Amino acid sequence: MKQDDKKRRDFIKQMTGLGILGLACGAGIYFAPELKASSPILRPPGAVKEEDFLKLCIKCGQCLQVCPYDSIELEDIDGGASVGMAFIDPRKRGCYLCEAFPCMLACPTGALDHEHDNIKYVQMGIAVVADMNACLALTNKPVPNSAVDRIYEHTKVLTAEEQHNKKVVLRGDDKEKVKLQKKVLEDLDKFRDQPCTICASLCPYPTPEDAIGMVKKDGGLLPEIREACVGCGACIELCPTNVLKVIPREDYLSVYKKGQQ
Ligand code: SF4
Ligand code: SF4
Ligand code: SF4
Repeated sequence: MKQDDKKRRDFIKQMTGLGILGLACGAGIYFAPELKASSPILRPPGAVKEEDFLKLCIKCGQCLQVCPYDSIELEDIDGGASVGMAFIDPRKRGCYLCEAFPCMLACPTGALDHEHDNIKYVQMGIAVVADMNACLALTNKPVPNSAVDRIYEHTKVLTAEEQHNKKVVLRGDDKEKVKLQKKVLEDLDKFRDQPCTICASLCPYPTPEDAIGMVKKDGGLLPEIREACVGCGACIELCPTNVLKVIPREDYLSVYKKGQQ
């Protein structure tokens, strides 16, 4: 994966410069129809190359058991060759880039490589602005309650009362996992009926401004995806209007290869 780091950087430069795909659109990364950005398959952080992952993942579910955000699922029957293997569907729940990467440490086979427990080597994919006109910030529209409620609805650790009231209540005896998930909702709650910068404000990358920022556009604002983005998918989950998608690592590497031919 460390070699892929250069390919990834080059790919981003290609996309944001003159671009093998003709994607230049000011700064930032915009959507190329050639890329399968709607693919649900993001492997958890630290995943080795897909062909090796398919051989190494023994479908044990250890990674999902230790994930404090409930980000990881096992593929169902529709997963084809990778049925039963670990993946992340960012619209349902992104990865929040835990500092110690417990998912990697729990993997008994190296499908999630323990040596990748550094943010530099997390290359799940790259976020792209797929539908800029849907961005609430571009047209200065406030965040509707329903967009925040949607995240409550797929958060599994809340009490029935919290779900009903769509309001988290922090308790001293909450387990660490519960605290972490409630913190996301607390941060998100602040955006109810307010201008939207959710994607940039809640990006879990350690220095988020290196991964995403808001830039002025046509009297409003628009997210700009930057070089450090690791494709964790948190912004895809939290965006109220589906502006953002993520290109999984395997897909952008294949486009990179095409660009080299
Ligand atoms: S880094 Fe944390 S949130 Fe992301 S998949 Fe691993 S355990 Fe889950
Ligand atoms: S911009 Fe941030 S939240 Fe979005 S995929 Fe990239 S690193 Fe994750
Ligand atoms: S989360 Fe970001 S991309 Fe989505 S509507 Fe808000 S500002 Fe726009």
